[in-house]
Amino acid sequence: MNIVLLGPPGSGKGTQATLLSEKLGIPHISTGDILRRSFGTEQGDRAAGYMNRGELVPDSILISIVRDRLSQPDCRAGCILDGYPRTIPQADALSHILAGLNQKIDIVLDIEVPDSELIARLSSRRVCTCGATYHLIFNPPQNPGVCDRCGKALYQRDDDTEESVRNRLIVYKKETQPLIDYYKDRKLLVTIDGSRSIEQISEEIWAVVSENN
Ligand code: AMP
Repeated sequence: MNIVLLGPPGSGKGTQATLLSEKLGIPHISTGDILRRSFGTEQGDRAAGYMNRGELVPDSILISIVRDRLSQPDCRAGCILDGYPRTIPQADALSHILAGLNQKIDIVLDIEVPDSELIARLSSRRVCTCGATYHLIFNPPQNPGVCDRCGKALYQRDDDTEESVRNRLIVYKKETQPLIDYYKDRKLLVTIDGSRSIEQISEEIWAVVSENN
């Protein structure tokens, strides 16, 4: 089963993708995490420039990353895509890549959260290199500054500054929001109210996914 998580930065895509990936036993693919892990390489350092300004990394780079990742054997039963696609060309490429693997997108979940809440959430976000995400008030780690899952030190992302967040929201509206109609037209879109608790959201997502599975 292939599930795409749409939604603005800070809407909880990463948190919900992690929970869903554990329940379904299929990989969670976050293109943001893949790019951050590539920092220090030539391509990674080029990507970091776009990321720190809150801009999108060029489609050609992302399409090639996703093509490589989806052809790996652990994706044979499907995956959860978090942060990809973010543009119409990326969405078109995704359908082609999946068709070539005899697969398709089963559901697109659009997690909606008002802008004012997103800015507040992102400034209190702390992350781990293992992919875990925390919120200092609503979802704090058990020991301050330390990841519950792997014990490494948590950090604040360079692009979670207020200026970068504002730019990411502008870019989201311009480049990524058109995907809502794109997937609505293809009868794949389900809208989720993302301003509730992590548990309430994950219960609703699980109900939607179970219906389609
Ligand atoms: P994320 O971790 O999903 O919030 O992504 C962080 C940053 O990585 C984004 O603001 C973009 O600069 C870049 N990025 C991640 N995924 C994509 C994508 N599908 N297309 C373009 N840029 C991306």
